[in-house]
Amino acid sequence: MTAVVVSGARRVFDGGTVALADVDLTVGEGELVSLIGPSGCGKSTLLRLIADLDAPTSGSVSVFDKPAERARKDQDYGIAFQQAGLLPWRSVRANVELPMQLRGSRGSRADRTTRAARATELLALVGLADFADHRPHQLSGGMQQRVAIARALARSPRLLLMDEPFGALDEMTRERLQDELLRVRATTGAAVVFVTHSIAEAVYLSDRVVVMSPRPGRVVATLDVPLGGPAERAARGIELREDPAYFERVSAVREALHSGDPAPDRVPS
Ligand code: ADP
Repeated sequence: MTAVVVSGARRVFDGGTVALADVDLTVGEGELVSLIGPSGCGKSTLLRLIADLDAPTSGSVSVFDKPAERARKDQDYGIAFQQAGLLPWRSVRANVELPMQLRGSRGSRADRTTRAARATELLALVGLADFADHRPHQLSGGMQQRVAIARALARSPRLLLMDEPFGALDEMTRERLQDELLRVRATTGAAVVFVTHSIAEAVYLSDRVVVMSPRPGRVVATLDVPLGGPAERAARGIELREDPAYFERVSAVREALHSGDPAPDRVPS
């Protein structure tokens, strides 16, 4: 079984903007694939098609061998965006419990106990065990983003869809959260589709990096990143970031990005 299969996806917006032209993408179970490319190349659009927040003009998207719509209804994936999007009036714990609450039968004491136990486990996983009763505004940006990741994991999805989740954070916090994500992956075995602008981030996290061209978005290259599994990478941390093999992959992705076709839009918007 594969986590995601996108075939021949094309997305043309009203007004004629061709955001995606004939994109194919496969993400295996447990695999982390980054989408990288210049602003406006269709990365978010592609992620939104996978999440069934938008539909392709032509082509198809399946998630765990089901149509994207079925997978959304079955809550087969968790989502995290650049903004944590927490509910300010709810505690950290109550934010993490929300997806379980929306899904489960509300009332029973057993349900509430299960939810609370799961939230405790997830907050420990993202290093926030001591902050369960805080409100979001009492946390730093990095901590809020960790809550968002815990919330995305609430229903134990086998797939995480992440759109620049660390984009608004300072570099040091960002590196810490990258290690966090590697650990989360090592623990949960979830597949991840990860949108980023950062070449270094893509290489550090990914099993494969998919390089997209400027509009109309196409896949121009797919590069393997054979730097070990998530647990091994998280354990190596800084040392991996200074490894020549890591730099070599960073250069390869950079070259692929610059070889992207800079041709002007064929369809005026
Ligand atoms: P990226 O995530 O790579 O920055 P996007 O997927 O957000 O790119 O956008 C791809 C292109 O599609 C851009 O030119 C953008 O302006 C356009 N676009 C995105 N969403 C819409 C929309 N809802 N309506 C019209 N154009 C859109």
